[in-house]
Amino acid sequence: MTDISVTNPLSGQVLYQLAEPSPEELQQVRERARSAQERVAGLSLNQRANAVIRLQHVIHAQKEQILDRIVSETGKSRFDALSSEIFGCLDACEHLARIAPTALADQQAHTPLVLMGKKSRIWFEPLGTVLVIAPWNYPFYQILVPALSAFLAGNAVLLKPSELTPLKGLIEDLLKAADFPEHALQLVYGGKATGQALVEARPELIFFTGSVASGKKIMATAAQNLTPVVLELGGKDPMLVFEDVNLERTVNGALWGALTTAGQSCTSVERLYVHQSLYKRCVELLKSKMEKLRAVSQTGEPAEIGNMTAPFQLETIEAQLAEAVAEGAQILCGGQRTKDSMYFPPTLVVDVHHGMKLMREETFGPVLAVMAFETEAEAIALANDSPYGLSASVWSADLARAERVARQLKVGNVSINNVMLTEANPALPFGGIKASGFGRYKGVWGLETFCNLKSVLIDSQNGKIEANWFPYTPERYRLFSQLTAALFSAQKSLLKTLLTGLKLESQAQKEKL
Ligand code: NAD
Repeated sequence: MTDISVTNPLSGQVLYQLAEPSPEELQQVRERARSAQERVAGLSLNQRANAVIRLQHVIHAQKEQILDRIVSETGKSRFDALSSEIFGCLDACEHLARIAPTALADQQAHTPLVLMGKKSRIWFEPLGTVLVIAPWNYPFYQILVPALSAFLAGNAVLLKPSELTPLKGLIEDLLKAADFPEHALQLVYGGKATGQALVEARPELIFFTGSVASGKKIMATAAQNLTPVVLELGGKDPMLVFEDVNLERTVNGALWGALTTAGQSCTSVERLYVHQSLYKRCVELLKSKMEKLRAVSQTGEPAEIGNMTAPFQLETIEAQLAEAVAEGAQILCGGQRTKDSMYFPPTLVVDVHHGMKLMREETFGPVLAVMAFETEAEAIALANDSPYGLSASVWSADLARAERVARQLKVGNVSINNVMLTEANPALPFGGIKASGFGRYKGVWGLETFCNLKSVLIDSQNGKIEANWFPYTPERYRLFSQLTAALFSAQKSLLKTLLTGLKLESQAQKEKL
């Protein structure tokens, strides 16, 4: 099998080679995970949380060296890497480690009257080995946050980074410096073939972040073994701007939402819908501000716009723009890549319609397409006219309207008067609907994703026969019907429930097998 070259998108320099692991090596990784999992499950929730906090401190202490690695493999701006990858990861570590000991502690559940005397519990148990497969756009955050969530729940984790941005050796060094439990998190480097082999090896859960096409393949393979999957897939996020906004702030928000990490975010704003009364001024302001944004590769740091990471993504952008222009779209700024470079300038497109791939398929680049709308209903219909359902934003000074609109958007996450903000709060669950995938991570719900929620009902050891056990007799049938009516009919009555329950109890004790 040929080695994979990892390249710096800013310099074009080959950084190192990556070899696909052999089947024997993959087998060893899985065996180490199995034995590590027993040790991880044996740790208390506080011990696991402390390990995550130690790692948080190491990440913070080594942030500049980590940023060097992220920037050299992704080509993104250092500011983007600091705010999204490092800050985001530190914030998630802090929150998840703080909530896990309570969120994953044994819980009591309600026990209904008819089960009087018994106790109901929920135990949050580990699943076993969790496989986290990550993309190239946030190679640090996107792999560590789900992996640490799975670890907090008591699982061993296999982490398969993207072959474009593997950050080889970095996370192992950080784990070692944090004295993290050995083999609790193991990195497995390689391309799609390695990902496929890991999927086929029957982990207890697959947490996949990546494209729709790969998500479908992984789900199909996982189905053969009934391996559960969480799919965090692509997006085509809409931003809806009503006539009463502060235009200056809104335009600045749109620019950041569309262009942070050079638009290579699953939740990048790719479709901007503006009320027609503001449309002309909004487009002028977008253009003049967009033209001021600086390219990292040409001006150094700090600058706003990094390079593209994946060569094939440049081709997607170019193909979508060419088709849109052929269909009548106008490019007001940007539009063409810099020769012999991975830099694509911020691009503003108008006169677009939903028949264009630019408005239907994920662009995943620094491109913002703008359309005008007249009514609230039209804005909602345009936003929902998409195969994707990841996130969206609604901008209006009228918060009642903003909320009304937000409730009608078919997405997993929505920000009001801000952009890409739901991801900034690790207490909120994150995930999509429709082609953007399913399942959630982060927040209490995200920790539960990595657990077997074991339901437990505890009865005492006694000689009592339950009313619904054998033998079935006409009298017990009659009393059970009466109990059902006392509990659930329109004339339901607590007194009748208690009296009938007592009669049924004593009848059951008389009619033993
Ligand atoms: P990709 O699907 O090509 O690859 C993602 C990962 O899956 C890589 O590690 C790759 O090696 C592996 N892989 C690919 N095919 C596989 C297979 N058949 N079996 C097992 N593993 C396989 O995605 P990408 O190009 O790296 O990432 C970009 C995509 O990720 C975009 O669509 C973006 O929207 C999406 N994304 C989604 C989120 C989210 O949270 N919803 C976040 C970031 C990125």
